[in-house]
Amino acid sequence: MKYKRILLKLSGEALMGDRQYGIDPDRLREYAQEIKEITKEGVEVAIVIGGGNIFRGVAGASNGMDRVQGDHMGMLATVINGLALQSALENEGVPTRLQSAIKINEVAEPFIRRRAMRHLEKGRVVIFGGGTGNPYFTTDSAAVLRAIEVEANVILKGTRVDGIYNTDPEKDNTAVKFDNISFDDVLRKGLKVMDTTAFTLSQENELPIIVFDMNKKGNLYKVLSGENVGTQVNL
Ligand code: UDP
Repeated sequence: MKYKRILLKLSGEALMGDRQYGIDPDRLREYAQEIKEITKEGVEVAIVIGGGNIFRGVAGASNGMDRVQGDHMGMLATVINGLALQSALENEGVPTRLQSAIKINEVAEPFIRRRAMRHLEKGRVVIFGGGTGNPYFTTDSAAVLRAIEVEANVILKGTRVDGIYNTDPEKDNTAVKFDNISFDDVLRKGLKVMDTTAFTLSQENELPIIVFDMNKKGNLYKVLSGENVGTQVNL
């Protein structure tokens, strides 16, 4: 396998499958199976999960809610998704631990870096819930932060599209996909990979990002085998 330790970022929306809201159990099971395949090869897997399928702080704020209050709800949503993913992985026989950035001791371990790294060494999948634990951040930022902290080799951003295009492929059928692109070119061309805070943190810490379609069966395994799937962002 090309990478020893990865951080997989899954958006909350990805868990919805074809639904408008919440969690699709079939999608969850598929993801758990894909993740199991790479752990069998000895890849150490850390996961950051989003919460957009349940709640986003910005959406709350646009309806008059206090932003920080809304972000707290969003962070709790990521813990709910983390619990669901943990359960799905354990149904597949994959050992896991859920660590939360906000203390919620009855349901998840607190985030403790050394402990997270030990779990990874022992072959447990570590799911990080609660984002960064701070309002005004996103789970993309949490993903980059945790990846750097646990010394992951790469961040894999599983999305609905199969990589980074020069224009939006869902709106423009002449859009062209990049196989590789530099951080500078992403910024120069104004392409959207992650929010700026997350993207800059990744660039500054020389952490490569691979954007790929997580909904295509076998794709995660292909990325780990070094096949040319998705788009890789490098220095
Ligand atoms: N959130 C937060 N701090 C963080 C991460 C997330 O406050 O460090 C909140 C924020 O309200 C966000 C929500 O949690 O809208 C869900 O996260 P995100 O939107 O990143 O989820 P995704 O788009 O990946 O589903």
